Amino acid sequence: MILVKTEKTIIPFLQKWRKNQLSIGFVPTMGALHNGHLSLISSSISDCDICVSSLFVNPTQFNNKSDFEKYPVTLEKDIALLEAAGCHILFLPSVTEIYPPNYVSPHYPLGELEMILEGKYRPGHFQGVCQVVDRLLHITHPQCLYLGQKDYQQCMVIKKMIELRNYFTDVKINPTIRDANGLALSSRNMRLSDEEKILALHLSKTLFYIKENIEPGNVELLKQQMAQQLEDKGFKVDYVEIASAATLETVTHWNGNDKLVALVAAYINEVRLIDNMLLF
Ligand code: AMP
Repeated sequence: MILVKTEKTIIPFLQKWRKNQLSIGFVPTMGALHNGHLSLISSSISDCDICVSSLFVNPTQFNNKSDFEKYPVTLEKDIALLEAAGCHILFLPSVTEIYPPNYVSPHYPLGELEMILEGKYRPGHFQGVCQVVDRLLHITHPQCLYLGQKDYQQCMVIKKMIELRNYFTDVKINPTIRDANGLALSSRNMRLSDEEKILALHLSKTLFYIKENIEPGNVELLKQQMAQQLEDKGFKVDYVEIASAATLETVTHWNGNDKLVALVAAYINEVRLIDNMLLF
């Protein structure tokens, strides 16, 4: 695997591959890699000739300073995992490489999408996500970008940014990879104690419960009950929400036909976790 740290050094590789008609798949990450990330690498390798990954803990998407400072870093292990997975090139930029002194941050008109759910609880988060992905796509111009359903709203935001910026990049979304108990893999799980990891299982249990028990009609009570149960177990809940899978518009009354997604965000002590599940 080739390791490059600057825009100037990655571009000649990409140009050469493009000139040789090789297709490029791109997997952006913030490191502390797990099998969720590796599933994206594996999809990219099976679809495209060249797999490019990036590892960059993007400061502009953290609305909470301590979350940024405590974000897990396991660089040596990540490099070994990417190499073993068959990634061809890892882009490992510094903050000034992504945001040079002359960088002017655009404003991305994301509309309602950044006012709801994660956007509501993490102000500015999605503008930061767009900034970094925009910079990375501008550098790599991949045929295909690989994202995880684990960050459902982020996938929608990035698709919108790609439209706004006119990139010719397809987006492929991989299903959420879970551990044997149902816990969605997440880099932030590394910050949980063994006991907290057991508690965290209630997040996916909540989503499975909603999937099995949702009925046409008013769904507000179901959401409220689920949020209350999590609070009673010691979570600090930001939301338990049921929304249109296509638009993320909140649903209060389900007609029994529309395709829905259930989403949850909650803290266990200092660590904020999110998860979601399609209800069809
Ligand atoms: P991150 O390093 O958290 O920014 O995530 C990088 C990419 O991996 C994003 O597209 C995530 O949605 C995806 N990802 C994170 N966790 C999982 C998971 N458990 N299953 C599938 N994809 C994931």
